[in-house]
Amino acid sequence: MLFKRAVARISGSGSGSGWKLAWRDPLRTSKYFKKLQSSYYVGTIKPRFQAAFTVAPFCLFKLLFIMENAHNSKGAALKSFLKNHPCIKFITSSSPDYISLRAVFSLDSTATPLAIVRPQSASHVALLVSYAKSNGIKFVIRTGGYNIFGLSIVEGALTIDMRDISYVNIDKQSSTARIGGGILEGELVEQLAKEGLATPTTSVGSIDHVVWATYGGYGLFRSNFGLGVDQIVAAKIANAKGAILEADEKLLRGIRGAGGIFGVIVELTIKMYPLKTVSI
Ligand SMILES: Cc1cc2nc3c(=O)[nH]c(=O)nc-3n(C[C@H](O)[C@H](O)[C@H](O)COP(=O)(O)OP(=O)(O)OC[C@H]3O[C@@H](n4cnc5c(N)ncnc54)[C@H](O)[C@@H]3O)c2cc1C
Repeated sequence: MLFKRAVARISGSGSGSGWKLAWRDPLRTSKYFKKLQSSYYVGTIKPRFQAAFTVAPFCLFKLLFIMENAHNSKGAALKSFLKNHPCIKFITSSSPDYISLRAVFSLDSTATPLAIVRPQSASHVALLVSYAKSNGIKFVIRTGGYNIFGLSIVEGALTIDMRDISYVNIDKQSSTARIGGGILEGELVEQLAKEGLATPTTSVGSIDHVVWATYGGYGLFRSNFGLGVDQIVAAKIANAKGAILEADEKLLRGIRGAGGIFGVIVELTIKMYPLKTVSI
């Protein structure tokens, strides 16, 4: 009965003023609330509200505490896992080179990653992917860090920084080069130029070649040799299961345009061209 009267009052269908009227008039609102409190709410809803308001901050605090603990324990477990793989560099927010290694193009990005790891080979990448997957750790891949939405650095996620995988193996016979998934444009241009070779690249030296090329690759020499994506003849990926795959024709077609959506690109084979001089 009491409940029915309360509902009638709030919806305005019963006797007395309606909820909408009371809402418009602050004075009346307070009177309305007092009336409601004394007539209906005392001993029923009010104590529940009070309890909820008292308990809510503690619950929130406890939740934050649990999340912080989980974050710390994931970081500690990862650190001890990587003790068995000392070749993979492990950087946290307290490491001296953290600020320079975390820096990305988007200055809006304030995210603090769980840690930054720097694999040295494709098998390290595969190992890190399978460890992260089996331990419920979110991870992101980072190379140049030019993604304007900050996708290569995410709050609480492990950053797998590919920049140490930057080899260039030139095969002059087939006019191709196998390049590491973390090679930056400046490094690639330099390595090829030593051999009198070139390939389409962007003019920004600190963008990663693999990401730039697989998503299209608009840049220098496009009118001579085509886009970056046109140069890709083979690819290797570390997939979600932590296996390293040589891309077949179908997968390669996907990589030429959809980039790293199928896995971490650990190596590309690209075309090269003899180039001794550039005239402007
Ligand atoms: C200032 C500026 C200039 C630019 N100039 C050009 C230009 O001239 N021509 C052009 O075509 N584009 C240009 N771009 C776009 C640029 O190519 C893309 O933003 C590209 O993704 C940046 O590469 P990155 O190495 O910095 O990637 P990151 O920011 O490190 O990563 C980009 C995305 O790719 C993923 N990723 C990184 N590495 C791998 C990998 N090995 N395998 C799988 N996924 C990976 C990351 O998780 C992230 O989601 C420019 C962008 C900026 C901000």
